[in-house]
Amino acid sequence: MEEFIRYQEWYRDVKTPCYIVEEALLRKNAEVLQSVREKSGAHILLAQKAFSMYHTYPLLRKYLDGTTASGVYEARLGKEEFGGETHVFSPAYTEEDFKKLLDFCDHIVLNTPGQVRKFRDLMEKCRNGGTGKQVSFGIRVNPEYSEIETDLYNPCFANSRLGTTLDELQKSEELFGLVDGIHFHTMCEQNADTLKRTLAVVEKKFRKYLKMDSVKWVNFGGGHHITRKDYDLECLTDCVRRIREAYQVEVYLEPGEAVGLNTGFLVSTVLDTMKNGMELAILDTSAACHMPDVLEMPYRPEIIGTDGTLAGKPGEKKYTYRLGGPTCLAGDIIGDYSFDEPLKEGDQLIFCDMAHYSMVKNNTFNGMRLPSILYRREDGSIETVKKFGYEDFKGRLS
Ligand SMILES: *Cc1c(COP(=O)(O)O)cnc(C)c1O
Repeated sequence: MEEFIRYQEWYRDVKTPCYIVEEALLRKNAEVLQSVREKSGAHILLAQKAFSMYHTYPLLRKYLDGTTASGVYEARLGKEEFGGETHVFSPAYTEEDFKKLLDFCDHIVLNTPGQVRKFRDLMEKCRNGGTGKQVSFGIRVNPEYSEIETDLYNPCFANSRLGTTLDELQKSEELFGLVDGIHFHTMCEQNADTLKRTLAVVEKKFRKYLKMDSVKWVNFGGGHHITRKDYDLECLTDCVRRIREAYQVEVYLEPGEAVGLNTGFLVSTVLDTMKNGMELAILDTSAACHMPDVLEMPYRPEIIGTDGTLAGKPGEKKYTYRLGGPTCLAGDIIGDYSFDEPLKEGDQLIFCDMAHYSMVKNNTFNGMRLPSILYRREDGSIETVKKFGYEDFKGRLS
């Protein structure tokens, strides 16, 4: 953020709405991740569902081992644009997709014993090198332990479909003839102390499987907020090393958010102001279309106002506004913020930390324009990576 405030003068010239990702900030995150790789021996993959700005992959691939995907399209993007290791997890694969993934992927993680049974023949063929390519298969387990409080983001909430519980795994232990790895993903924006407690549960429940000679790797999933200022890197490193040594396995981490954390901005313009019980401002950016996590998480992005300072909580500064998008959705509300000066048409507001879970979730509901995507290089030059228009809206309709 401080870094950003230094540069922000030139932001005033951009056409809004647009995302701006800063190469310098992305590299800073990548360096932290690389240091974790080096110190812990973990493989680190970019979870593309959070951040798929492939224009930055040539930079990121210098620091990370590869990518992970949620399905065929992301896997293909990772394979073609990033290279390195390509991994995938999906709650369920169709046969058509599974066959394609065998071409793209180094690791395929399956969600249930039923899926392992369904694809047994294909998996066997692959393991025997019959397809000319070595693919390693994993099973996602549900440790039934998570410290996430929002159900929407908690893979271990009651009756979750994400991962196989110990009870179910015990009924299908023969799958370890085909599966070389164990995957769990139970975290979201959490520090390493949560990982430590989670690992204690995973080890207690799944020790028997971790100890099998046939189990070669453990994937700790994502949700590790590794690049956050207060993140305990040492604890993470200790966790990884301990598991590697105790079970003689490779360890994988697949952060998404931590790669893009605090590296991008969404620049928007005030279109109008009005009053209805309080001051309202309508922006050219929509919560529903351009930052859906603001509604889903829900979460409150920081905003830099026209004077270069951060907007306050409601009532904290002199003028409080409810910021809303230009769609017809009544609930397209970004939040209530306060400013030192009244907002007026044409004012520019800059939303912080908008690189991850934003572009990947964009939509054109209401025929909304998609923000263009800019990349600011370390030498100060600015690339307009992509502009969207009517054709992008129409192209998805029929
Ligand atoms: C979402 C997800 C990730 C990435 O999570 P972040 O919170 O963005 O780090 C990694 N692995 C799996 C299986 C996921 O579902």
